[in-house]
Amino acid sequence: KIILGIETSCDETSASVVKNGREVLSNVISSQVDLHQKYGGVVPEIASRKHVELIIPVVNQAIEEAGITPDAIDAVGVTYGPGLVGALLVGLSAAKAIAFAWGKPLVGVHHIEGHIAANYIQHKELQPPFVCLVASGGHSHIVHVEDYDRFKILGKTRDDAAGEAFDKVARAVGLGYPGGPLIDKMAKNGNPKAVDFPRVYFEKGCFDFSFSGIKTAVLNYLNSAEQKGEKYSVEDVCASFQAAVVDVLVTNLISAAKHTNSKKVALAGGVAANSMLRKELEEQAGRAGLEIYYPSPILCTDNAAMIACAAYYEFVRGNVSDLNLNAIPGLKLGERG
Ligand code: ATP
Ligand code: MG
Ligand code: FE
Repeated sequence: KIILGIETSCDETSASVVKNGREVLSNVISSQVDLHQKYGGVVPEIASRKHVELIIPVVNQAIEEAGITPDAIDAVGVTYGPGLVGALLVGLSAAKAIAFAWGKPLVGVHHIEGHIAANYIQHKELQPPFVCLVASGGHSHIVHVEDYDRFKILGKTRDDAAGEAFDKVARAVGLGYPGGPLIDKMAKNGNPKAVDFPRVYFEKGCFDFSFSGIKTAVLNYLNSAEQKGEKYSVEDVCASFQAAVVDVLVTNLISAAKHTNSKKVALAGGVAANSMLRKELEEQAGRAGLEIYYPSPILCTDNAAMIACAAYYEFVRGNVSDLNLNAIPGLKLGERG
């Protein structure tokens, strides 16, 4: 089965053609990062307008690069939530128009389900069940992936998402947007033990996160250094902040895996591209005897291949949508609109 995937939930306009859920024939990603950089974050109105400009050329390019004609497509998969409503609507409207014009079934995909599915593309042998840490710009979840279309949330952030914390700290130390990759890079030349930033854990058996405390601690550290006229090392602050976040993410993921008797753990979402997170997980989960999976960096951040993959597994289970499908900005995982 051949699926055309479309993703426009935030600031990437992306279209992809994927065969049988695992073989990527094309994955065109047009990032708007440069457009939003000067505002230090994504401006929703600008994102929507840019998606409108790009969506048709990006879809055409995906089909062309895949070397297929439209009649080869079996279904159109599209992100319908969660995300920015105006941004989602552009991809959704395009997907509906294409599905209607070409007489193809439409499959609405949950964006986070897509992030998780990126692991299936990277690891052809991976099958559920496994426990997945989804850490992205808007989400920090620990999910028990019971089946391709069955998800149980074991823990989630009570305030900021991990990626959001990276972006805010990057801004505070003057690094620009998006912050994750920049902190990752600076941290390579810093001492992760230089500053002891707080790690927040909840009671045993609870796998929730809280990152607003770490963020505030970093801001306080910077302010007090400035007030005293002391110089601080941006590299050390980045390395220490990253170490604290990674510590909590990895510890909770491994505890959740033990709690559910899982043998396999996976990473997903933009923060899964973080080099220290990958390294720490390899070490600690390796020691705990767990199998470890994560996608290549390009499949961690937003892309339509992961959406086409998730759509494939919904499609073969008969989970198709009708053309009344609407965008749901606050869609919860495991819910269907
Ligand atoms: P969501 O998926 O929750 O709707 P999103 O789609 O905006 O949010 P993603 O594209 O999955 O988020 O990921 C972007 C986030 O990942 C940003 O916050 C970015 O800073 C972070 N990120 C990207 N690369 C890295 C990295 N190497 N280290 C840490 N964080 C990173
Ligand atoms: Mg993005
Ligand atoms: Fe995302």
